[in-house]
Amino acid sequence: MVWALWKAWQGVELILLGVAIVAAFTSIVLATWSLRRQKRVARELDVSRERYMLAAEGANDGIWDFDVVNGRMYFSPRVHQMLGYDESELSGPADLERIMSPEDYESARAALFAHMEAGRTDELRRLMRMRTRDGRVLTILARSVTKYAADGSPLRTAGSYTDITERLGDERQLQLAASVFEAGSDGIVISDAHDRIVSVNSAFLGMLGYSRDELVGRRLRDILDGNGNLQEHDAALRDTGSWSGDLAWRRHNGEAKSLNSSVVAVRDAIGDVMFRIHVCIDTAELRYAQARIRHLAYFDSLTGLPNRTHLRGQFEQALATARHTGQELAVAFFDLDNFKEINDTAGHSVGDDVICAAAQRLGKGMREDDILCRFGGDEFLLLMPNTSATQAETLVGSLVEQLCKPVEIEGRMLDIAGSAGFSMFPEDALDAENLVRQADTALFRAKEEGGNNVQRFRPWMGEAVSWRHDMQAALRVAIVRSQFILRYQPIIDVRGRRVAGVEALLYWNRPGMGVVGPATFINLAEESRLIEPIGAWVVREACRQAAAWKRAGLPPFYVAINVSGQQLRVIGKFQQHLVAAMREHGVATDDLVLEITERHFVQDVKGGLPELENLTTGGMRVAVDDFGTGYSNLESLKNLTVDQIKIDRTFVRNLMTEVGDRAIVKSIIALGRGLGLQVVAEGVESAEQERLLREFGCDLVQGYLYARPLAAADVPVFLDSLRSKVPAGD
Ligand code: C2E
Ligand code: MG
Ligand code: MG
Repeated sequence: MVWALWKAWQGVELILLGVAIVAAFTSIVLATWSLRRQKRVARELDVSRERYMLAAEGANDGIWDFDVVNGRMYFSPRVHQMLGYDESELSGPADLERIMSPEDYESARAALFAHMEAGRTDELRRLMRMRTRDGRVLTILARSVTKYAADGSPLRTAGSYTDITERLGDERQLQLAASVFEAGSDGIVISDAHDRIVSVNSAFLGMLGYSRDELVGRRLRDILDGNGNLQEHDAALRDTGSWSGDLAWRRHNGEAKSLNSSVVAVRDAIGDVMFRIHVCIDTAELRYAQARIRHLAYFDSLTGLPNRTHLRGQFEQALATARHTGQELAVAFFDLDNFKEINDTAGHSVGDDVICAAAQRLGKGMREDDILCRFGGDEFLLLMPNTSATQAETLVGSLVEQLCKPVEIEGRMLDIAGSAGFSMFPEDALDAENLVRQADTALFRAKEEGGNNVQRFRPWMGEAVSWRHDMQAALRVAIVRSQFILRYQPIIDVRGRRVAGVEALLYWNRPGMGVVGPATFINLAEESRLIEPIGAWVVREACRQAAAWKRAGLPPFYVAINVSGQQLRVIGKFQQHLVAAMREHGVATDDLVLEITERHFVQDVKGGLPELENLTTGGMRVAVDDFGTGYSNLESLKNLTVDQIKIDRTFVRNLMTEVGDRAIVKSIIALGRGLGLQVVAEGVESAEQERLLREFGCDLVQGYLYARPLAAADVPVFLDSLRSKVPAGD
């Protein structure tokens, strides 16, 4: 049994052995086969890599290979040669970071990682700048593809570097040339050896009125008008390679157009003409532009009259003739009296029409040899050769008369007025500059006389003008440097012996001269229209101060603000400003009174009345200042909702001595009361005056008897002192 078992076991063992031997043999065969296969694959890989490298290097590209798993990088010898680094200097990503521009490195890295993360197998292309060892910067086109493991993780990424620095340079040059070709203002047309148009630029199309499609492919000769010059320029092209001259071209609409054309031939390597380039300049346009520029430089575009620059030449010529012949010459300056107002109220286009109408009237009235020019704005200058002072006076007078007739513009009749001043050669001055200056001075004088007036220059006028000029300049500086201050003169309620209001009076803290009163500069400020910005400041400052007193808890009183008629001329302007200032400081209409002198009521408020009406309807209280001096008609007092009249201090001054003045004061008070108005007496200096005024029924008094104009800080002090003076039971 044991034997039988042993035998059986031996049989099994033998079978097992056999199986083992077969298995071992099979595995040896398989291993050898797989080794061989691996070797073959590796060899194939090497061959294909070599082949790729050869192809790449043949194309002058460098190869790189990045093993993502172990971070190793391979660069082919061409990469090292391209960039000038040896293997020890350029062998891994860190070296790349060193030689690449930082932004390119960062964006290339980010693009590669994004590519790998998305598992993309297509080619990734990037442009990057790399610094060579000798300091040049190359633009490199990098291409790469990535291989992934079965689980999708990236294994390696490999690709090539192509140096495109030069190619890029060439492309840029071409782009540059193309844009010069297209953007130039000269027309360019290029034809080939068979006279066919191959290219045109927009300027050329614009000059002749064709579209690009209509010209490209067409024979050049077809768009030349007659072939007159062609033989000549063909011969020149043969001899010298270029030709230039006028060529007649045919426009799209059939008309002929002469263009100044230069032709150059482009030849191939063996000298045959490949292309002809025609560069064309539209000289007619050039000539027109030159004439236009000349006209603009010498003539006024609105009226077509010669301008100041043109006048200069004419003036010198006229003076030279006058000197030579011993004749006299008159120089007159004209100016519209109310032009600014027309411009402000009716608008600039109406203003322009008025200037044209004035130019026409002057042009019509002058004599043939006279020279008229627009000097600027609404000023015209007239040169009158061979003219005596008497003739000039008559002629200029009649021209001003012409100017002062109403003019119809856009269906409206506008009143225009003008003034003139003139000077004489050789009596007043010998040169153009002084003659013009003197005519201007005389014009100023004419305006001072109230406008619609002619004045001949007189030497004394010069001094007055220069004083005014200096003062105006100083006033301008005063505005900018905030040299103005307000002082406040109390207005007393005679019955209650309390302060009813204060009048804000403008003073000028003039450097080197101390504080000067308004009487010395208000008229000048009005004349030069500086009263507008100054008046605007007064309004703001008075509102600010009124609000400050209110906040300080003083008993209520109004602040009277003097307003010049000029400030009311442009409808809405003053009101807008006043409302803004009141709103800014929290001041109510009850806190203010506007004082407008009677003179302004009569003269200016004609234009400013609507503005005043708007103010009074808005609840503003208005006082007629200096009443009795301006001959205002009672009608306007009645119609305008005036609240106060202020009797001028010249009447109050003589109240005790002059019977006439006393009668006037008494009747003004009676009139005011009759109309239900408050009456204020100005310039009250004595207790007797005050007593008499109270007797006549006057409500309010203002004057040195109580106080001079006070600094703002002294007003509360004055209020206190007045209160303490009030006699008990009075
Ligand atoms: P007004 O509005 O009639 O102001 C009263 C003038 O009388 C002030 O002269 C004042 O100092 C003066 N006065 C007051 N009480 C007496 C007195 O008892 N005796 C004498 N002799 N004079 C007295 P001031 O300050 O020289 O102002 C002159 C004028 O300047 C003002 O006359 C007013 O028309 C004008 N004015 C002042 N401030 C302004 C302003 O802000 N804007 C405008 N447009 N005009 C102003
Ligand atoms: Mg006043
Ligand atoms: Mg007054």
